[in-house]
Amino acid sequence: MTGQDSASDFIRSAITKDIENGLASDRVRTRFPPEPNGHLHIGHAKSICLNFGIAEEFGGRCVLRFDDTNPISEEEEFVESMVNDVRWLGFARDEDPLFASDYFEQMYELAVRLIREGHAYVDSRSMEEIRETRGTVTAPGTHSPHRDRPAEESEDLFARMRAGEFPDGAHLLRAKIDMAHPNMLLRDPPLYRIRNAPHHRTGDAWHVYPMYDWAHGLEDSIEGVTHSLCTLEFEVHRPLYDWFLEVLGVHHPRQIEFARLNLAYTVTSKRKLAELVSGGHVTGWDDPRMPTLSGLRRRGYTASSIRNFCGEIGVARRDSLVDMALLENSLREELNRTAPRVMAVLRPLKVVIENYPDDQVEMLDAENNPEDEAAGSREIPFSRELYVERTDFLEDAPRKWFRLAPGKEVRLKHAYFVTCREVVKDPNTGEVLELRCTYDPASRGGASPDGRKVRGTLHWVSAAQSVEAEVRIYDRLFREPDPTAGDADFTEHLNEDSLQTLSGCRLEPSLGEVEPGFTCQFMRHGYFHADPVDSRPGSPVFHRTAALRDSWAKLSASS
Ligand code: ATP
Ligand code: MG
Repeated sequence: MTGQDSASDFIRSAITKDIENGLASDRVRTRFPPEPNGHLHIGHAKSICLNFGIAEEFGGRCVLRFDDTNPISEEEEFVESMVNDVRWLGFARDEDPLFASDYFEQMYELAVRLIREGHAYVDSRSMEEIRETRGTVTAPGTHSPHRDRPAEESEDLFARMRAGEFPDGAHLLRAKIDMAHPNMLLRDPPLYRIRNAPHHRTGDAWHVYPMYDWAHGLEDSIEGVTHSLCTLEFEVHRPLYDWFLEVLGVHHPRQIEFARLNLAYTVTSKRKLAELVSGGHVTGWDDPRMPTLSGLRRRGYTASSIRNFCGEIGVARRDSLVDMALLENSLREELNRTAPRVMAVLRPLKVVIENYPDDQVEMLDAENNPEDEAAGSREIPFSRELYVERTDFLEDAPRKWFRLAPGKEVRLKHAYFVTCREVVKDPNTGEVLELRCTYDPASRGGASPDGRKVRGTLHWVSAAQSVEAEVRIYDRLFREPDPTAGDADFTEHLNEDSLQTLSGCRLEPSLGEVEPGFTCQFMRHGYFHADPVDSRPGSPVFHRTAALRDSWAKLSASS
């Protein structure tokens, strides 16, 4: 493929133009460069799909590269989970990831070159002084007294910084650009700071670590990246990105910025997600309410539904808040085709069919998925004692109530017409304990025997054969569309009712032995996933992956 879709957004158009101007299509190189300081989230998925997608479309290449230049916040555990998540999404499956830390030596040598060529110097003042002399947006900064120290002196200090002779903060290597530059980032920006800290890959080898602006362009350049795609906040950094590569005269990739993905009712920032985990607001990075890839996966999202979502939202230059319904829709579209339909009663109410033989169990045929002929059918037991949904019964029903009520007839899915004859209540509390019903034997399979109509069709399970389960219903994690807007801490907007746990639910027997990770549709309830962590064959724990219809739209409309 050579970019048939290439004009579909401004990034693909820019790359197409570069190809028209002589760049070989198979030379297109992109990268996904996460910092391993947390777990990947849905925002990263957008970047992953964009970078790997473009490389694939143009016949080029994309690499997963860890931007592991900060020893303080980075951990091997995060590297492993990120590799795993990227592969799960369907990318970088057959290759080892790259690491910025593998270029530390090269970066160091290039910094020495800058010093020798008069483009960098060691500033030995305190961080505070350096900050104070940077000036403001309206006032230029002032020169450091060390700005013109001899190159040999800077080079010597830099070597000793590297060797670990100084405490943190004693010196800083800075580029010598322009202390009056209108873009503050170009006022002699820092290249290296002293950090006497071990690195998760290089151990104790280094005592200086490169700053993002210095390192990132070099990483891109060293790898021969042609298009360095990043989010809009890096737009103001681009002149610096360009300056370093220009001055060094090395391969110069083109940086192009696009808008971050912000998803309503959640946060997409590793730091904020980390706060949710450490604050105990969720059970972990893979809590099914989290917008992390591990959370979405555990929730029951498929990689393809996330890829489709990323394709649908596209890329733009303006920040926006994307509706959660779009993500859910993409999943629902897929699960509608693939998920088998089963019956589960979440809030059981016992029904006794008085005219059904006491000891009889008959097996009824139930199709697995009306959207998929190949899915076939299964048998489900019917007997004298059943469970129906408590919310499907009303004692004082309004006229348009088509479900169970005294004297009302309904269809039990795949089974029979039944009529409610009597309501048994707890004499003390008035609580409805069971319904006494009769069935019409001539309506087997749920077909009307004589053309009479019933409007309601309910799901049910046979009491004796049903399987008990715990079912978790998740709601949005935050009460506000943008929890980070405003002055309050974002955790103040957490939705306290984002998890509802139902115990004593009753599932049809086919679900008794399901493996963790199994996805199905509980008819009339939504798509449910056997929790990969807590579910066991024999004692299933399900949670809702998505409602049947766009519950988010309803939520937003009512809030
Ligand atoms: P976070 O704020 O979550 O830590 P980040 O931008 O610091 O995000 P990185 O690890 O640096 O995280 O991100 C790797 C790549 O993913 C970068 O190119 C970044 O621009 C991109 N990215 C991060 N968040 C989003 C987002 N919400 N939408 C699109 N791309 C994103
Ligand atoms: Mg970051």
